[in-house]
Amino acid sequence: MEIRIKHLTKRFPGNPKKNIPDTTAVNDLNVTIEDGTLLGLLGPSGCGKSTTLYMISGLKSPTEGEIWFGDEDVTHLAPEKRGIGLVFQNYALYPHMTVYDNVKFPLTNLNVVRNKVSQTIIDDLTLIDLLEHHLDEILSLEKESVYKDKISRSAFARKMAFRFHVVTSLSQRLFSYRLDTMSPEEVKTRVKKAIDDLNGEIKTEKEKIRKKGFMLNEKYEIIDKLGNPIPEKRHLTKDEIDALVQETARLVQINDYLDRKPSELSGGQQQRVAIARALVKKPRVLLLDEPLSNLDARLRLQTREEIRRIQRETGITTVFVTHDQEEAMSISDKIVVMKQGVKMQEDAPQEVYRNPNCLFVAKFLGNPPINVFKGRLEKGALYIGDEKITEDPAFKEDKKVYVGIRPEGFLCDEHTKEKDKVLTLNVTAIQTMGRDMSLLCESEAKEGTAAIKIIVDSEIKVGLGMNRFAIRPSKMFVFDGETEERIPLEGQGANGKQE
Ligand code: ATP
Repeated sequence: MEIRIKHLTKRFPGNPKKNIPDTTAVNDLNVTIEDGTLLGLLGPSGCGKSTTLYMISGLKSPTEGEIWFGDEDVTHLAPEKRGIGLVFQNYALYPHMTVYDNVKFPLTNLNVVRNKVSQTIIDDLTLIDLLEHHLDEILSLEKESVYKDKISRSAFARKMAFRFHVVTSLSQRLFSYRLDTMSPEEVKTRVKKAIDDLNGEIKTEKEKIRKKGFMLNEKYEIIDKLGNPIPEKRHLTKDEIDALVQETARLVQINDYLDRKPSELSGGQQQRVAIARALVKKPRVLLLDEPLSNLDARLRLQTREEIRRIQRETGITTVFVTHDQEEAMSISDKIVVMKQGVKMQEDAPQEVYRNPNCLFVAKFLGNPPINVFKGRLEKGALYIGDEKITEDPAFKEDKKVYVGIRPEGFLCDEHTKEKDKVLTLNVTAIQTMGRDMSLLCESEAKEGTAAIKIIVDSEIKVGLGMNRFAIRPSKMFVFDGETEERIPLEGQGANGKQE
């Protein structure tokens, strides 16, 4: 499900009596989240990430702007009608209920409107139709998932179930076959066999419906004698609920703990239960608000991988809110970096790192963080202190600038013999970390108070005191001293700016 966010704005009114000004938590945000992808919403505390997520969920309503799920404008739709699954950082599980009952909970009062024969049969029919008419698409999905992404056969079956909204034991069986090794005739034979099995079940259903004085039309809808469909509202049956709970438990791998209480689980397992609870209704969109921040470092890493796997397997469009840049970088297909309610940059994770469009983004991403120096442009050349770093056609007017150089952007070998792109730093501490060496340095041109940290190959000979370092051009960024926007050097190209 594609999500489109158009000119989304949220203003919280202040209180003039108490001198509290209005807050614009989200300011004219425009983002398109492609179907089946994971978007990381990244930024410091108070930048408007959660407010954005709550507006997507419907828990908060926008002051201006629109939110679309596919072709549907959901801006004013109630949260329960949006088809979303929400996961918060504090899991919010019911402590007195077992894991099974926690996962089952969203289904208990769920009404399904049916005017068709049992959903299982409809799912099976859909599946058979898929295999008959969409075999090529399924085979290419199979190739991509099983052979390229190397997900297991049963995981592929689950992915298909999510993708085509069919959950039946038949789908598990059919998609677990190696379809690619079968001839189309063989697939047809399998499908035919499945149809024969089904016909028996349909016959029984038809009989039940006839006894009530109704009939089935060719779409398997229940109709009255005049041909009008008869909608019937009912709860899910116990078996249907059980099938959904078991299916979701397998997906997030908590099937061994279904009888336990949440307190008998680790934090990571509890968070997986919360994810299962969000997924059990097969939402169109999964929204995760800092889901890992209550976990210790090891579990955070592990659960992060889990979330990625589950997202890939289900292909569910996901928004993941975090203030942790490493987390966002490792999990997202695309990252939106926010500052004070405004989107600063939107790009693939590597791109945001390699090609930041402003000083804020450059400083926010990367560990150790980027080193920032005060510099100036003078007659087409960039200077840090007295050292001329480089000339560039982009340096049109003389002005103050900031120069960001990534820790891995320094070299100290024969390159330092060159006149340009060389910076002298005072090395104050040297730490060897296996293959690499971390140097703490000082410079009068340093911006801010943190020490300059650079990472070089540990075989390189560097001593304490003044050292000359060559700068790798691709790791150096120049920013306007006033606007803090990037001044792309020749060859570095422009980069993703706010639309
Ligand atoms: P964090 O990472 O700390 O959760 P965030 O990026 O998710 O931060 P939001 O919670 O979206 O930020 O808040 C954005 C801004 O809106 C903040 O300045 C916050 O103080 C303000 N804000 C949020 N909710 C309200 C509210 N109900 N009333 C007034 N201001 C609010």
